[in-house]
Amino acid sequence: MATERLPIISGNWKMNNNHFEAIQCVQKLAYLLQKEDFDAVEVTVHPPFTDLRSMQTLIDADQLRIRLGAQNCHPEEKGAFTGEVSPVFLAKLGVHFVIVGHSERREHFGETDEFVARKVAAVQKHGMTPILCVGETLAERESGVALDKVRHQVRVALEKRSSDQVKSMVIAYEPIWAIGTGKNATATDAQEVVAAIREEVAAVVSRPAAQSVRIQYGGSVKAGTAAEFMRQPDIDGLLVGGASLDPTEFARIVQYRRHAY
Ligand code: PEP
Repeated sequence: MATERLPIISGNWKMNNNHFEAIQCVQKLAYLLQKEDFDAVEVTVHPPFTDLRSMQTLIDADQLRIRLGAQNCHPEEKGAFTGEVSPVFLAKLGVHFVIVGHSERREHFGETDEFVARKVAAVQKHGMTPILCVGETLAERESGVALDKVRHQVRVALEKRSSDQVKSMVIAYEPIWAIGTGKNATATDAQEVVAAIREEVAAVVSRPAAQSVRIQYGGSVKAGTAAEFMRQPDIDGLLVGGASLDPTEFARIVQYRRHAY
């Protein structure tokens, strides 16, 4: 049941906030969130790579309950991959969560389903949790193939993972047409796709994995819309882009129970 899965709300900063700005942003967020917020929701922030060391130091020094995340990594541990970042380095920096297969990576950097599957494996090999992003384009939605597209992405990413590995990971359903556009999927539409993702996990991996895996919705979420998504039985969390850059707005999203309006 949904109640057994701890909600997880993640802020994807994309290519925003240098390391000075990152510190200010997280300090403000930590000030706005209370113990009961962290007891109710796991909170992750995903700054650019260049901020990670400063963030790790801050989180350790102030013993913050905000979990450090990265936005991407390479599947290999080391080698001639100029400009890439190894999962080994991320684990060493205290990173707990790594977004893999974000639609911007798939679209602008040509990441295939198979490449994303290798990243999922690499992230787990090094003791971190992947947040696997899946989602359809507007054209795919309009032509009625959204569910097929998303199910295929899930299948390729998870078919070689064990039931226990899938239980501990996070999947983010992000309709591409809703990312950064101000357009939301309706909560009912999101619930339909997220339920289909859970069914696909049951078919490809196992029923227990499907019941345990946490699934987020992402796409132009704001404080005013968070609660509606979180009310859906299969939606366990939110992946938030633009709105996570404003600590006040992001804190209100984390506190969606209190700010439901
Ligand atoms: C994202 O980057 O994953 C995202 C959902 O962005 P936004 O909230 O800005 O649509």
